[in-house]
Amino acid sequence: MDKCSFCGRKKNEVDLLIAGMDGHICDRCIEQAHAIVEEELKSKGSFDLKSIELLKPAQIKHFLDKYVIGQDHAKKILSVAVYNHYKRLGQVIDDDETEIEKSNIILVGPTGTGKTLLARTIARMLHVPFTIVDATVLTEAGYVGEDIESLLTRLLQAADYNVEAAEKGIVFVDEIDKIARKGDNPSITRDVSGEGVQQGLLKLLEGSIVNVPPQGGRKHPEQKMIPVNTKNILFICGGAFDGIDRKISQRMNTQVVGFNAVQHTATIDRDNMMKYIAPMDLKSFGLIPEIIGRLPVLTYLDPLDPSTLRRILTEPKNAIVKQYVKLFALDGIELKFTDDALDYIVNVAVEYKLGARGLRSICETIMTDAMFELPSNGKKTFKVDEGYAREKVEKSGMSLLKAS
Ligand code: ADP
Repeated sequence: MDKCSFCGRKKNEVDLLIAGMDGHICDRCIEQAHAIVEEELKSKGSFDLKSIELLKPAQIKHFLDKYVIGQDHAKKILSVAVYNHYKRLGQVIDDDETEIEKSNIILVGPTGTGKTLLARTIARMLHVPFTIVDATVLTEAGYVGEDIESLLTRLLQAADYNVEAAEKGIVFVDEIDKIARKGDNPSITRDVSGEGVQQGLLKLLEGSIVNVPPQGGRKHPEQKMIPVNTKNILFICGGAFDGIDRKISQRMNTQVVGFNAVQHTATIDRDNMMKYIAPMDLKSFGLIPEIIGRLPVLTYLDPLDPSTLRRILTEPKNAIVKQYVKLFALDGIELKFTDDALDYIVNVAVEYKLGARGLRSICETIMTDAMFELPSNGKKTFKVDEGYAREKVEKSGMSLLKAS
């Protein structure tokens, strides 16, 4: 008589016996095996870091290209930095060997040009825990606001409290320019959300073991702290640094006086001074030298011109237009945007200075009525042309924005 090849029970002793190639398994053993599998997977956490597939820089950039339009320079620098960072994690350090140091990254560029999107896309590619923190909410310990450690609490949460995974994650610190020192003179009043935060952040950037409150905040004083080593956490900082172009110009002007000056000024691209950004500009903006030293990879993002905005509408993997087409397709409706409708949307974004973030709200304004009516009126195709788009935008009162 057939019997379970695992526990030896005979067919009449079990509810179910499943036949395999050379044996059988009973329902009880299946359940037990399932529990073992669950347990194993749980202890590994949902982040299996051994499986980080280390793509080459060119492949990383190629991946970024699918989600982020333009910003080639930033993508290239970022791809190399990320490649080196994760290569570094795999390094075996002998006594006499050189240890590759961590290189955190700072992205400088106007708001809404893709800084967060770049960081998020990198994390998506690597399947590592990722979190975004706004530097403006951070204050020096003991003051109103969030402690610097809360930034690691969020990373731990993103990693389902798998400390090992969190220690290899990515933290995006947004609005780093907002914690610049206020003014050049160290003032008598304490600068708890400026330099104080920079000092606190420094500790994390450098790599140290930090005791992290698992629930965050100071509301649970009884919670047991979790030690987290930040040595391998990649910090990507982003900021608009409004007005830094003036500081760059000033520096360049003083630099070009003298030897070869005429030749030099002729080649400067005055429309995009950001290109020439250097660590010393961050210093004159109010970041302390120690922080700048811990953010050795510095790159800039270009402002988005109309042709880039136009591409953002249709090209990325989850482009806004693709999302609407899919949304309508789910109702069996074929949706089309004409080229001049898309041009019009871009014009509105440019005219009202809404940037890439505004594209979605403009589309939403245009599509709301259609999304309301079409599912019930039986139409199978729908075309958005310029006239339709203009009518909806003008009716919405969006033009009032222009005055502000
Ligand atoms: P930042 O962090 O620079 O302020 P975000 O990365 O948050 O800006 O960008 C805001 C939104 O605008 C993104 O979610 C994305 O939809 C869109 N966006 C901005 N720049 C780009 C870009 N270069 N390519 C594709 N989409 C972009």
